[in-house]
Amino acid sequence: MLNSETTLTLSDLDSWDFTGTALAVLGHPIKHSLSPLMHNTALADLAADDSRFSTWRYFRFDVPPAELPTALRTLHQKGFHGINLTVPHKVLAVNEVEEIAPAARPVGAVNTLRRTEAGWSGFNTDGYGLATALEESVQRELTGAHVVLLGAGGAARGAAVECLQRGCASLWIANRTAKNLHALLDTLRPVAGDIPLHGFAPTEIPADLPAGVILVNATSAGLHEDDPAPIDLRAIARPAAVFDMIYNPARTPLLRDAATLGLPLANGLSMLVHQGAKALEIWSDIPAARTAPPMAAALAQAQSIA
Ligand code: NDP
Repeated sequence: MLNSETTLTLSDLDSWDFTGTALAVLGHPIKHSLSPLMHNTALADLAADDSRFSTWRYFRFDVPPAELPTALRTLHQKGFHGINLTVPHKVLAVNEVEEIAPAARPVGAVNTLRRTEAGWSGFNTDGYGLATALEESVQRELTGAHVVLLGAGGAARGAAVECLQRGCASLWIANRTAKNLHALLDTLRPVAGDIPLHGFAPTEIPADLPAGVILVNATSAGLHEDDPAPIDLRAIARPAAVFDMIYNPARTPLLRDAATLGLPLANGLSMLVHQGAKALEIWSDIPAARTAPPMAAALAQAQSIA
């Protein structure tokens, strides 16, 4: 039987003879993705109660960006049921799918595809993952909250749309490069409606920033040990919570500062779990709340071994 932990490439599809229900994550690089472990653990857990899932497997494929259109076509021909997309495919895939769920349209990116007769239907579960992680790990809801979001890349855009769609009280976005910040603000204005939307440089904290914000880091500052914190937390009137989308390392400079200040904090591991559980719900109709616990347990065990 195929080992679902092996990293596959498109050429492995030439002799594809897997007869079960196949799911896959596509990325480049993809070797270190935790999604196969997370999903295969949840599928094994489901199979213990429901034998339908005993033939479901989640694979990983290394697909360079130029090969994405061919990969999606071939995976459809080979009968794959669902796909997850990670760096750098989330935005590229928008032009390769037959339809996009309305909530994902303003995000301009998809991370989950479900098979249809004609091709693929695209969804984005990252925003759900963030909102659910905030509720679970720091007991905060986006609805009615003042939110400070750091970053203006793909993850920030998804998070910003989720904040606005859930009716946050105000959204304040900070980014290192002003041009990228303003491009994001322009994209978000039609989604914001009456919700106050502001942009600022991380080095110039606005004097009228409300106290008690939820602060979310969606920059990649913190991925490397010697990265500086993306903002000086001491310059912000006591945030209600600090959430860093980065999960490796588990404690970024921003989260270390939050701990020093005694603030409620969490890293991005629970977001990874909940976006994954929502993707599995889209493919299987099994509620995300059922599969999130085995996914979280698999990641916790992997981290304790690492
Ligand atoms: P992008 O490359 O699209 O965006 C990167 C962002 O980080 C930009 O705003 C960029 O600013 C900023 N940035 C990069 N380096 C620095 C730095 N040294 N100082 C300050 N700002 C910096 O990446 P994504 O949006 O896709 O991902 C962002 C982060 O979110 C990643 O760390 C990723 O791992 C994480 N993530 C976690 C998820 C989870 O499930 N937990 C899901 C998705 C993402 P500028 O415009 O100035 O270049």
